[in-house]
Amino acid sequence: MSPAPVTTRAQAAALDAADPLAPLRELFELPPGVIYLDGNSLGALPRATAARVREVVEQEWGQGLIRSWNSAGWMTLASRIGDKIGRLVGAAPGELVVTDSTSVNVFKALSAALTMARLASPDRRVIVSERSNFPTDLYIAESLARERGFELRLLDAPDLAAALDTRTAVLMLTHVNYRNGMMHDMAALSRAAHEAGALVIWDLAHSAGAVPVDLHGGGADFAVGCGYKYLNGGPGAPAFVWVHPRHVDHFQQPLSGWIGHAAPFEFTPGYRPAAGISRYLCGTPAVLSMAALECGVDTLLAAERHGGMAAIRTKSLAMSRLFAARVQALCPALTLASPRDDAHRGSQVCFSHPAHAYAIMQALIARGVIGDFRAGDPAHPPDAADILRFGFTPLYLRFVDAWDAAEHLHQVLAAEEWRRPEFNRRQAVT
Ligand SMILES: *Cc1c(COP(=O)(O)O)cnc(C)c1O
Repeated sequence: MSPAPVTTRAQAAALDAADPLAPLRELFELPPGVIYLDGNSLGALPRATAARVREVVEQEWGQGLIRSWNSAGWMTLASRIGDKIGRLVGAAPGELVVTDSTSVNVFKALSAALTMARLASPDRRVIVSERSNFPTDLYIAESLARERGFELRLLDAPDLAAALDTRTAVLMLTHVNYRNGMMHDMAALSRAAHEAGALVIWDLAHSAGAVPVDLHGGGADFAVGCGYKYLNGGPGAPAFVWVHPRHVDHFQQPLSGWIGHAAPFEFTPGYRPAAGISRYLCGTPAVLSMAALECGVDTLLAAERHGGMAAIRTKSLAMSRLFAARVQALCPALTLASPRDDAHRGSQVCFSHPAHAYAIMQALIARGVIGDFRAGDPAHPPDAADILRFGFTPLYLRFVDAWDAAEHLHQVLAAEEWRRPEFNRRQAVT
């Protein structure tokens, strides 16, 4: 892939012709006339999903009925799909399970980490996180801190490492920032946390399937992640949780449901946690949602024969560079709000606009270019601006899509299409 800037649509088309991942677009059901730049929020539908979910409904459930817990392997879905996701994030087989939502898994992982920290040293009473972390992670940390007598300290990214000290119990971060796409140096921050004697939890919601991740090499103690973004698992897909094998058997998480019991079908009144990561399961798995998630994860594993996560990363960076450069050339009213430097950018690009980001995005969506809008935080100057967010998903996007999306954005701004009243009415989901 040429590092020289792309200055014509023909050059973008030439990059598509040479793209080793290009055949994978066929694995997706994409509506005609749509350029989908929101796979970082809800991944696209794999072609295999509808038939597989129908099979699970009609055959496994309809015909197999309760026998399917054994005969169709429903009980092992959490670890079977977990092992597949493990291949994308550097976890060994048996270390990661699919279960619950990301929010619930943050609760379980943070709670276990706080117990560990408290036992190691009662003076460690601070949870450190990033002020612009995804709110649900902060909300869960806030209530756990209140309940367990810890303090939650929120800092801006550049101040995190210096804030870690002998009072820090846990550093809890999202690897790639949901708003501006900034990617942390996982290994460096994990090392800083460990040098301060703290544990580290990484949320991979915007990393799994988006950028190469190496949980062991990156020094993580705990990790959680999301199934419906880059993993293409469908709306509300189950999430995942990983705990380093050196910790997993020593502590248990507080949601001690029967599926995380060592022997659920003994129906004994006392709780005994299962060995390993299975103790992070809680209740009965959502089999239909798991079936859809497995189809989504399989689209990423299909890329292994085409260069895998390394090829996905190379293409993602090339697409996001192309898009950012075209928008900067065509749309002077917009300011790049994601990191310019490849090493610090995940798989998304975002721009701020001083006043009309929401209406601009609505006008763009009306043209079939789907990204999203995220409101700024007026109380916090570094994040005060409203932003337009564009996710790059190399499995189903082409370089010409990035080129054309920038052209559409230019038209929306040049003709002031965003001024139309229907684009200025705020809907519930932005
Ligand atoms: C998307 C996302 C979530 C979503 O959590 P849910 O429980 O699935 O609603 C959590 N954390 C981060 C960092 C996210 O990006």
